[in-house]
Amino acid sequence: MVDLKGQYQGIKDQINTKFTEVLESSAFINGPEVHAFQAELESYLGVKHVIPCANGTDALQIAMMGLGLRPGDEVITADFTFAATVEVIALLGFTPVLVDVEPDTFNIDPKAVEAAITPKTKAIVPVHLFGQCANMDAIMEVASKHKVAVVEDNAQGIGATYTFSDGSTKKTGAIGTVGATSFFPSKNLGCYGDGGAIFTNDDDLAHTIRGMVNHGMYKRYHHDVVGVNSRLDSLQAVVLRAKLPNLDAYNQKRSAAADAYDQAFANTKHIVTPYRYGNADSHVFHQYTLLIKNGKRDALVTHLQENNIPCGVYYPIPLHSQKAYASDRFVESDFEVTNRLVQEVISLPMHTELEEEQIAFIAKTVIDFIENNG
Ligand SMILES: *Cc1c(COP(=O)(O)O)cnc(C)c1O
Repeated sequence: MVDLKGQYQGIKDQINTKFTEVLESSAFINGPEVHAFQAELESYLGVKHVIPCANGTDALQIAMMGLGLRPGDEVITADFTFAATVEVIALLGFTPVLVDVEPDTFNIDPKAVEAAITPKTKAIVPVHLFGQCANMDAIMEVASKHKVAVVEDNAQGIGATYTFSDGSTKKTGAIGTVGATSFFPSKNLGCYGDGGAIFTNDDDLAHTIRGMVNHGMYKRYHHDVVGVNSRLDSLQAVVLRAKLPNLDAYNQKRSAAADAYDQAFANTKHIVTPYRYGNADSHVFHQYTLLIKNGKRDALVTHLQENNIPCGVYYPIPLHSQKAYASDRFVESDFEVTNRLVQEVISLPMHTELEEEQIAFIAKTVIDFIENNG
C-alpha cells in the first residue's frame, strides 16, 4: 500500500547525518530539532502555533482537553472515519454524536451536523478523510452560528489547501479552532515511529495546550491542570524536517498517481473513482478509494490478494455499529450513506513511488475482474 523505502532513498544522507548529530548531542527530547520543526511547520501551514506531541490520537485528545469541555458535553463527528476520532471523545467523558457523511466526498455532511446540534453541543470534529478537505465553508458557518468549536482531524489531509467561497485559501488544520495531525509513518507527512501535532491560531489555547502536553505544568513542578505526557522526540523531528520541504512534491506525486488511476478507470462499469471538488490541491490522496457498485467488493479484495496486489477497506464497519460506540441514541436510518460505503469502498496502493506500469497493472487487474464478474 505504501513504499517508505523508496522515499527514504531520496532523503537518506540528510537523515543519517542528522541522526548521528542527535545521537552525539544526546538532546533526545525537546531538543533544537523539535523546535526547528515546530517553527517550519507553523510557517508551512500559515498557523501561529504548532504544538508537537506523541501521536495523532494524543493530538486529538489534547486539542479537545484544551477546549475546556465538561463531561456530558456533546461532540459531533463523522460515522465514517478511523476510530481514534471518536475514541478520544468517549475517553474524555464527552458524548460522541455520530452523523452521516456525503456520498461523493465521504466527508461529514454539514446538513447532518446542523441537524444534530443541541444546546449541549460544544464542538464539531470534521475529518479530512482520505486527504480531501471537508466542506469547511459550511462547517465553519454552522459552528459560528451555534458558537461551537471546530476541531479538525487533519491526520489524513496534511498539505491540502481549502479554497473558501470568497476565494481565500487556507491549509487544512489551520481553519478551525484547533487542528490535529498524525505523523504515523504511512501518513502523507510521516516520521519513522509515532508523532503528532496540534495547530491553532488562538494564543490562549496554545498556551493551555503547551502546558497540557507536559503534565499540566506552566511553571516547573507547578501543576495547574491535569495534563498528559505527550512529546515528539528529536529523531522523529529530524525525519519530519527532511520531509517537510518535499511535502508538496510528495502530494503532487500522489495526485498524479490518482490522475493516472482515474484515467484507467474512466468509463468502466460498476467502478466509481474518487470525487474531487474545488481546487486541484484540496485533495492530497492519503488514500485512493474506489466505490464498487455491483456488490463484488469483497470478491475483488480476495482477487487482488490472490494476485499479490495490496488493497485496503477503510473502513469496514460504521462507528455507530462498533461495540464500543453503539448506543440507542443512534437510529440506523440516519446512516444510510455510511452503511452503504462500508460495503462499497476499496483503497488501492497510493504512495510517492508508484510507477505508471504499476498503476496500469493494478487498474487492469481490477477492471478485468469487475467486468468479467459484473
Ligand atoms: C491515523 C489517524 C489518526 C490517529 O493517528 P495516530 O498517530 O495513529 O494516533 C486519527 N484520525 C485519523 C483520521 C487517522 O487517519
